[in-house]
Amino acid sequence: ATRPDWLSIRADFPVLTRQVHGKPLVYLDSANTSQKPQSVIRAVDAFYREHNANVSRAVHALGSEATEAYEGARGKLAAFLNVPANELVLTSGTTFALNLVAYSFALPRLQAGDAILLTRMEHHANIVPWQLVAERTGAVIKVVEITPEGALDLDDLRAKLTGDVKILAFTHVSNVLGTVNPVAEICREARKRGVITVVDGSQATPHRAVDIPALGCDFYAFTGHKMLGPTGTGGLWAKREHLKAMPPFLGGGEMIKEVRFEKTTYNDPPHKFEAGTPNIAGVVGLGTAVDYLQAIGMAEIEAREQALLRMAEARLSAIPGLRMFGTAPGKAAVISFLVEGAHAHDLATLLDLEGIAVRSGHHCAHPLMAHFGVPATCRASLAFYNTHVEVEALGDAIEKVRKLLA
Ligand code: PMP
Repeated sequence: ATRPDWLSIRADFPVLTRQVHGKPLVYLDSANTSQKPQSVIRAVDAFYREHNANVSRAVHALGSEATEAYEGARGKLAAFLNVPANELVLTSGTTFALNLVAYSFALPRLQAGDAILLTRMEHHANIVPWQLVAERTGAVIKVVEITPEGALDLDDLRAKLTGDVKILAFTHVSNVLGTVNPVAEICREARKRGVITVVDGSQATPHRAVDIPALGCDFYAFTGHKMLGPTGTGGLWAKREHLKAMPPFLGGGEMIKEVRFEKTTYNDPPHKFEAGTPNIAGVVGLGTAVDYLQAIGMAEIEAREQALLRMAEARLSAIPGLRMFGTAPGKAAVISFLVEGAHAHDLATLLDLEGIAVRSGHHCAHPLMAHFGVPATCRASLAFYNTHVEVEALGDAIEKVRKLLA
């Protein structure tokens, strides 16, 4: 196979040619949301220009084209994740997917005396829904701690998988530390004890091949906008037996078989969980995003991002007073950092003036910030469309800004 031509791949992303504050844009915030290639933008545009109609309702030509495009995209996503299409519920993203599990699966099953096990490195989207369910059921939240490198403490995990734990919800890849958790190993431990596993795949599906059955989890949530797709797209994979047993989360059109005032019967999964008109054009765009990722190849993407990460780590370690958070082996291309004497927001604001987009703040992970004793960090997150020149520009700009703030 020929090697991908990364510069021509980069040219597929129109926004990356922009200037900000008179400088070329260096976009290092892909963990927040990824940029979109031309093909995805065109797919959304073409859907509205040529096929727009609602799904699963009309027998007219456009209606069946729209349904075919929507279900076709579900099929592409399912193949991408190696799961059957009828086990893949399309949602507005990870947040919706995790709330769906919390309300539809966990709420009816939990009671006082039960525990939900989370980890120190979770995004708020994988904390707050569980707290809401815990408050209603009397279950408690327990937390697996991390090592100084920012890896999950697997001894602590085993120690905390006690008889009261019914659900273990954890992230595949940390959005702050870049830590890649050993999902298959963790799920094996949980399964031995009959614990249900819920995996937040938000930061994994854009950056590595994800084979859900090989992970051995019960639920896997992901979001489309971080994997080159439009905002407001994503999904939840769940084991068939769970989807069958779960009551609907939202009621409305599309999710029913027959509605009578006495009793309504529900559609089969995944449609049972897709009430109302979905984000059809967005899902079509996400299907095209999957085509795009697969054309490059997830192994190639991972290798490219790892090379950029190694370069960025080397460049940033050479800067005096710079502290990096998260150094677990095999981590993903996310670097959280602080520069001695500078507030994260000041740093990010001055970097922006240099054209460099990094995120500053708590990254929706307050408990992790509290663990490190900082209110915020700066985060540079890389994607395959970034370049070695941009990594160098980040290093140079941090050095310049550091002198300004000193
Ligand atoms: N989990 C993780 C690890 C994330 O990084 C994000 C997005 N920052 C989410 C959940 C939430 O995703 P969304 O806002 O797309 O629902």
